[in-house]
Amino acid sequence: MGTALRHSGTTGARAQGVTGQRRRDDAALRAALERLRDTHLYRARRVLDGPQGVRPVIDGRQALSFCSNDYLGLAAHPELAAALRAGVSRYGVGSGAAHLITGHSAAHRRLEDDLAAFVGRPRALLFSTGYMANLGVISALCERGETLYADRLNHASLNDGALLAGVRLRRYPHADTAALARMRAGGDAAMLVSDGVFSMDGDLAPVPALAACADAAGARLLVDDAHGLGVVGRDGRGTLDVYREQGWDDAGDVIVMGTLGKAFGTFGAFVAASDAVIETLIQRARSYIYTTALPPALAHATSAALALAQRDAWRRAHLQALIARFRAGAAALGLPLMASTTPIQPLLAGSAQRALAWSRWLEAQGVLVTAIRPPTVPKGAARLRITLSAAHAEQDVERLLALLARLPDRAVGD
Ligand SMILES: *Cc1c(COP(=O)(O)O)cnc(C)c1O
Repeated sequence: MGTALRHSGTTGARAQGVTGQRRRDDAALRAALERLRDTHLYRARRVLDGPQGVRPVIDGRQALSFCSNDYLGLAAHPELAAALRAGVSRYGVGSGAAHLITGHSAAHRRLEDDLAAFVGRPRALLFSTGYMANLGVISALCERGETLYADRLNHASLNDGALLAGVRLRRYPHADTAALARMRAGGDAAMLVSDGVFSMDGDLAPVPALAACADAAGARLLVDDAHGLGVVGRDGRGTLDVYREQGWDDAGDVIVMGTLGKAFGTFGAFVAASDAVIETLIQRARSYIYTTALPPALAHATSAALALAQRDAWRRAHLQALIARFRAGAAALGLPLMASTTPIQPLLAGSAQRALAWSRWLEAQGVLVTAIRPPTVPKGAARLRITLSAAHAEQDVERLLALLARLPDRAVGD
């Protein structure tokens, strides 16, 4: 996620060997890891014992979590677990091959049809992950050396897609379509790419203005709606639908990418677009062609998830009520909220050190909130990324607010 494009060499893990050549050994790696610790940028994993949810059991203790992207509370839903079991009975466990060999099943095909109808595009194509979908769509539709314009706060996988495609990546200031138009003035563009709902800020991309920019440039627009689908728009149809509802004329040429491991509670991703785009991806997207198809039982369960997410409108309504309650409470406490109407409600901390201290203090009280630090977000913009879920009760939000009121070292900007 986020901004800084760091690849090899961030840890600078090199040492001089006896021959004078650079040696890559574990001592150098350990030194680099220590530097990450010293700068509060070291990341560690927690082990959950049991299902994902708002009350995960970690190290034998139940916590209250505001960390996951399981926005609708479907990741451990019994109906989806039953659908997955039914899928296993019918299709077995593994897909056994890539889609273009013998890995493409009736369950995949049905889910693709369901997803295309859901987002309002002629066709959809399943990928094993959102990361791979973004690599695939950018590298299949852009030629090496062409220019791709990207929002500065886009998800890392979109930037990595640009690297794989060998395009010239030009990043415009967040959501600033006037700056984008200036940068582009007269120049050529192959593609514009943007998150739909930004993963670390929670705000919506200005899709109609981006679509107009893409039109003017004769470029394609790709919207990565990993955090919008299932959550915003009518029946959770995503960011584009928010604008359609406001009267935007969706001409149908915006390419939509969506993930299935967030609001829909399962796993995988898809790209929805015209027939010609989808056929091109099937022929050219290397992250589609050279990989094993996701298990068909998962596709089967995801069709059930898609139906459930649309049917249970109360989940979105409850989530909206929780968002409103949280924002009103946080505003009353004078907390530095960002302008987000989605379940992603970041609280700016400033330094990585403060974000980490806040996260650790909350954890000691039994509440999990992830500290998001550079390079995921820009330097000085470290934050707590609070995510709300339809599985939260109003009392959960009250408990979080009561703790935030007591957060140590609350003033930001020093
Ligand atoms: C999570 C995420 C992805 C990656 O999706 P996975 O299925 O987890 O690989 C891509 N884009 C955005 C904006 C995301 O938040």
